[in-house]
Amino acid sequence: MRSKQYSKEGIKRVPCAGCGQPSTQQWQICSLNKMHLGICEKCDVDLNRVVLKFFNIRNWPYIVSNYKHGVKMSDSKIKDLTRR
Ligand SMILES: [Zn+2]
Repeated sequence: MRSKQYSKEGIKRVPCAGCGQPSTQQWQICSLNKMHLGICEKCDVDLNRVVLKFFNIRNWPYIVSNYKHGVKMSDSKIKDLTRR
């Protein structure tokens, strides 16, 4: 964890904050003084699932499934899917 964002190469050397596997991306956590935390692909999907479920985002299972499988959706499609 550090305050400066990790580089695309550097993040691979950071253990995932959730499981310890090599990280693929990072999360900036406000409650941790906006420090950056390394996170692997699996934990990132799990974290996205938790957040979308927490906010009860409409169609969250479909959205998380697409995210997990790398299916890109346009902003307008996401807006349509999440519209209440
Ligand atoms: Zn992980």
